[in-house]
Amino acid sequence: METIKRTKISDLLGLTTYGAEVNVKGWVRTRRGSKQVAFVALNDGSTIKNVQIVIDLEKIDEELVKKISTGTCLSVNGTLVESIGGGQSVEIQATAIEILGECDNTYPLQKKGQTMEFMRSVAHLRPRTNTFGAIFRIRHNMAYAIHKFFHDKGFYYFHTPIITASDCEGAGQMFQVTTMNLYDLKKDENGSIVYDDDFFGKQASLTVSGQLEGELAATALGAIYTFGPTFRAENSNTPRHLAEFWMIEPEVAFNDIYDNMELAEEFIKYCVSWALDNCMDDIKFLNDMFDKELIERLRSIVNTEFVRLKYTEGIEILEKAVADGHKFEFPVYWGVDLASEHERYLVEHHFKRPVILTDYPKEIKAFYMKQNEDGKTVRAMDVLFPKIGEIIGGSEREADYNKLLSRIEELGIPMKDMWWYLDTRRYGSCPHSGFGLGFERLLLFVTGMSNIRDVIPFPRTPNNAEF
Ligand code: ATP
Ligand code: MN
Repeated sequence: METIKRTKISDLLGLTTYGAEVNVKGWVRTRRGSKQVAFVALNDGSTIKNVQIVIDLEKIDEELVKKISTGTCLSVNGTLVESIGGGQSVEIQATAIEILGECDNTYPLQKKGQTMEFMRSVAHLRPRTNTFGAIFRIRHNMAYAIHKFFHDKGFYYFHTPIITASDCEGAGQMFQVTTMNLYDLKKDENGSIVYDDDFFGKQASLTVSGQLEGELAATALGAIYTFGPTFRAENSNTPRHLAEFWMIEPEVAFNDIYDNMELAEEFIKYCVSWALDNCMDDIKFLNDMFDKELIERLRSIVNTEFVRLKYTEGIEILEKAVADGHKFEFPVYWGVDLASEHERYLVEHHFKRPVILTDYPKEIKAFYMKQNEDGKTVRAMDVLFPKIGEIIGGSEREADYNKLLSRIEELGIPMKDMWWYLDTRRYGSCPHSGFGLGFERLLLFVTGMSNIRDVIPFPRTPNNAEF
């Protein structure tokens, strides 16, 4: 077969050079036709759109054409022609075809309309479907938009460690990292494991957040963000939790909680606008196939001001809802850590737009949050979204050395893990704020998917680390 430089289908569909000889490569989505002519829809992943290949059976070897079925990988030379009718503007009249990879009828993606559960069981192949192709193209675009947003605002991308010896939240939901022989663990007289001989000479884990190191960076470079993998061994089998997910964590010196809220709102709106401006083919597909209100919802977020509400006022609204007969699964009272149903009630029923909830009880928030004058609450802020609940968690940080120290002692956090963090408050402390956005929670919103396992290529959840 004559060698012609390959054209990506995304580029090819915009060409008007009718009569030109072109080459495309890709995977067969469908094949139909008659005795004289076969029509093949070819996709190469560059766009959700397929290009139609018209195969005249008098010109192409019949034995070869017989082997073309859904999933087959082809290289096609042909003439670019204007398409009459149908969706696309151009199609290709094949002059020569090479089969790069055959695909027999055991191929799992032959039938249309498979369930999402089934798709997870073939996560190694599902990117070849329209749905997951669209989702992963959007995922790429969102990652790019995030870097662009922060870069354009003068933030520096700062790399925080994946392996850490400090637990940011002080919660026991970390994955341990060890090279010790688990069949022969050294223990002291109390039965505690001795880590002296372990790789790092102490207990180490995968990070649950880059925030503490991000704060160090913010007190040096001014405004930074992290964007990396994050690990939580939470045994919560929900549609919104993964054991391995990606988090974006901006941290800004001299920002107070109000600046922080403004940044969060501007950031999310920028990402959603970016998706609408750059991923419309894919979003439109998801809108038509899964969620007829998706585009409408995305547009409305960009144009709505987020509500700003104190936790205490939020609780009053929820208590009133209960008094008026609304049934929640979990109880509502001042001090409770809000469940997703509570968050969604505020967003979807009460305000009908995103809510930034602030000033939470200190008992349910992390030690590093700035303490309010009332002695009861901290300058925390969670951004709550329709269909998702919490999409961002953040706060103004406690900048006062003594207040931070007494909170650390109160909670019994070991000093040997915290000395370097406290140094930021000891040497030239400054007010600062930041937040964490779960990348996959943002993707849930932008794609309209309802399960977080479907917006990351290879989900890690309890009892699942296949692929
Ligand atoms: P949740 O209450 O939903 O478990 P969280 O309070 O534990 O969230 P943070 O510790 O504040 O969350 O983390 C910051 C952000 O990271 C959250 O707002 C959310 O978007 C995301 N996130 C947290 N845990 C997960 C997870 N297990 N999987 C995916 N995203 C997560
Ligand atoms: Mn959590």
